[in-house]
Amino acid sequence: MIRVLESIQLLPLALTSGEGAPRVELIDRLAAEAARVLAVSCQVETAPLSVDYAFETLRCQVWSTPVLARLQERARRRGQIMLGLTMLDLYVPILTFVFGEAQLNGPAAVVSAHRLREEYYGMEASDDALVARLLKETLHELGHTQGLKHCTDWRCVMSSAHTVERIDIRQAGFCGPCARIFAARVA
Ligand SMILES: [Zn+2]
Ligand SMILES: [Zn+2]
Repeated sequence: MIRVLESIQLLPLALTSGEGAPRVELIDRLAAEAARVLAVSCQVETAPLSVDYAFETLRCQVWSTPVLARLQERARRRGQIMLGLTMLDLYVPILTFVFGEAQLNGPAAVVSAHRLREEYYGMEASDDALVARLLKETLHELGHTQGLKHCTDWRCVMSSAHTVERIDIRQAGFCGPCARIFAARVA
């Protein structure tokens, strides 16, 4: 089934304690950037959704795959993508961590700001750097929801990245072939 991207619902994800909730300013900046770059409507939910059920206390990380399943249940219309954003660290069992995860051709994606922060690497905090990386990671995961797989072009936002250095090399956009596939899926 072709799922044409029409709108993005941006949902903050946190523990019930409040830990991991992104600042409203950060959510708003990401929503504005995503709406601008993709030219689709982007709505923001203010109350964080709990991800306690997916929190692994020993790893101090959230398993992203069950989160995607919960987000998928909230998708109400075809073309609506549920995008979770959290400051908590994400993982899947076969990997130490992930920057994000998405359902291939599905309505759900999740992105973590945890390892995109300059301060995680001992640098001075920078919202500009964080938003730039979050946008690239968001475009990457949204690409997967539109059926895009990983791209061998390092500059393309669909290239796979396991370090922030590789994310920084990516441009905030798709290469020619990826852009054509993505554009065909945007209403
Ligand atoms: Zn990917
Ligand atoms: Zn590409």
